Formats: sequence, structure tokens, C-alpha cells
Amino acid sequence: MLVLLDRDGVINEDRADFVKSPTELIFIPKALEAIARLKGHGHRLVVVTNQSCIGRGIINEEQLAEIHGKLRDNLARLSGDLDDILIAPDAPWAATDRRKPGPGMLFEAMRKYHAKPKETVFIGDSTRDIEAARSADCHRILVRTGKGQKTLAEGLSKDLMPVHIAEDLDEAASFILEGRF
Ligand SMILES: [Mg+2]
Repeated sequence: MLVLLDRDGVINEDRADFVKSPTELIFIPKALEAIARLKGHGHRLVVVTNQSCIGRGIINEEQLAEIHGKLRDNLARLSGDLDDILIAPDAPWAATDRRKPGPGMLFEAMRKYHAKPKETVFIGDSTRDIEAARSADCHRILVRTGKGQKTLAEGLSKDLMPVHIAEDLDEAASFILEGRF
């Protein structure tokens, strides 16, 4: 399958003031192992992340590349890898269709990797992730890590269903490996 992953709150701890440096990128337990496990089974993995910290002028693209260098280095140690990292740098006040809840990046990934919506699953922790996945018509998993618990407490509207709920990326990976989709 094509596995699309939100970053903050799914792979690493979410920060209200943005991840601005490699040291602020703190991995959620078992998240990197889950990516390596999926990769080992031949799934393709693409991170699909809003990074308005660029559009807001808080960090630049070079700094973001350093942060993602840390992610890739730590994954490589587990023989894991990401096929791609797609970034929407848009500030909220200048959002394009690529910024989630827009589905632009999801369509981009599905086109690039020749995956149909039914062969694609999105894993996220926010309502806007699930909305983007709904607009792209792909499978959706909400994790309880990051903003996930809050997202669940606020409730997901019926038109977003079905949404599979997983404790974390580790459990979400197990759903995929069990062939639930
Ligand atoms: Mg998130």
C-alpha cells in the first residue's frame, strides 16, 4: 500500500511552538520501528506534513532539511526509510490546496506512486488530516498520540467515517500489516 503519514503527533511529539531544530524532534516510542516494519514488508511511505513555520518565517527550508536529516538518519539505523517527504510550507493565511485539510499533497503522492485511493491509507492525529484523507477518498487512521486524543474528544463528523482508531503509529502499522485495508 501507499502509506501517507502526518509527521507531528504521529512520528514525533507535537509542539505548539513548532519543531524548529533537530533537538526539538523527539520521536514517539516505537514510531520509527513501525516505519521500518512497514518498509520491510514492501509498503511505500510518504510523509505529508504542514510546516507553516516556513511560511511564517520561523525557520527556513535548510533548517527543515536538517530536521528531516535527523529523521532519516535515525530510520536508517533501523533499516527503515521514507520514499518521500512532502511539505506544505504555506502560512494559514496564504493556504493553497496543498496545506491540509486541502488534499493537494495526497493527490500528489498518489500520482507519483501510481496508487489508487483504495490502495492508500493516511495516518494522522488531527481533524484536518482526516478531512484531507476524506477529500482524497483514501483509507484513514487516527492515532491517539499528538493531538489525537483531543481530536477524538471533540468528535469526528459522520461524513469523515469510516475512521480507524489506533493507539499510535505502531498499532496503525499492525492494522496495515494485518491486511485490514
Ligand atoms: Mg499532526
